[in-house]
Amino acid sequence: MKKICCKFYFVILALILTSQIGYSFVLYDREYKKAIIKSSGHKEFTLKNMQSVMGEKELTKVIKRYNKHPEKYQSDWYEKDDQLGVKNLTYRAGLHSHTVFSDGRLTPEEMLDQAAEYADKVKKEYPFEKYPIIIAITDHFNTQGAQKAIFLIQKNPEKYKNVKFVAGIETQSFVDIPSKNDTKGIHMLAWCINPYEWPFTDMNFQEAMFQFGRPYKELNFLNYKDFVKRIHALKYGIVGIAHPLRYFDKDDMLDSVIDDLFAEYASLKDDKVLFTEGYYQPYRFYTPERTYKQTVETAHKYKIITTGSQDTHGHSIFKN
Ligand SMILES: [Zn+2]
Ligand SMILES: [Zn+2]
Repeated sequence: MKKICCKFYFVILALILTSQIGYSFVLYDREYKKAIIKSSGHKEFTLKNMQSVMGEKELTKVIKRYNKHPEKYQSDWYEKDDQLGVKNLTYRAGLHSHTVFSDGRLTPEEMLDQAAEYADKVKKEYPFEKYPIIIAITDHFNTQGAQKAIFLIQKNPEKYKNVKFVAGIETQSFVDIPSKNDTKGIHMLAWCINPYEWPFTDMNFQEAMFQFGRPYKELNFLNYKDFVKRIHALKYGIVGIAHPLRYFDKDDMLDSVIDDLFAEYASLKDDKVLFTEGYYQPYRFYTPERTYKQTVETAHKYKIITTGSQDTHGHSIFKN
């Protein structure tokens, strides 16, 4: 009996120790990280130095936990740019941001450095917080920024040890709205993809912008349903809708359209989670509270996870 107890305590102690000294990567998404290393072509990359990179198993666990916690995603609380979530160290995730590789202002390095500085502060205040900050690079149509971030993490894992990084992308799709006999453009996000093996053609951002005035059906963009299916067919990656209110809140369409869209979207679910941005800024300061609430509630009705971000384009990861 005594022996069994000792063994039990030893296992618990080992678990606590390994989670504190940073070997939690052993438990999560090992295959994904190995696949990234392999396809990167960088022989010097190691699994140990991938600790800051998040795969879909780990990220799914966290976004499920944050599903009904807007404060994790909100850098501003009461008014735009009050930055209370940052000052009070409650901000935990910015899962949608753009670098100089599309229409953002920050380099991947500047982005990671800002995240590291904040994460170190959080860790100092809350030593047991496992996810001081999670940051995703989701450039439009390309994964170069995400590749660069992984390179930087590999080069300097100690500097970024309190940051979690998600390799993602934002693309343009469209959605048919039969009830209104209309088609709307819609942005889709994919996270925890292998940025070295993105199966769609990377598009130069300027080139893509040039196309935006044309009717969606003439373009190479996919119907969002096909995009979801394509991501689900990949070995790695989860998929979601970016800023849904941007497409509908200016119309009287919202009531029925959001419900129709989320119902259809939820029907595409396979064994991976589906998410939609629900707590995104600064849009919420321009949108009626009721509309926001309705969007989040409708998503939850269909068991779609609500996430959030700043949709960073400027010089701070905590702002739009
Ligand atoms: Zn967008
Ligand atoms: Zn965006």
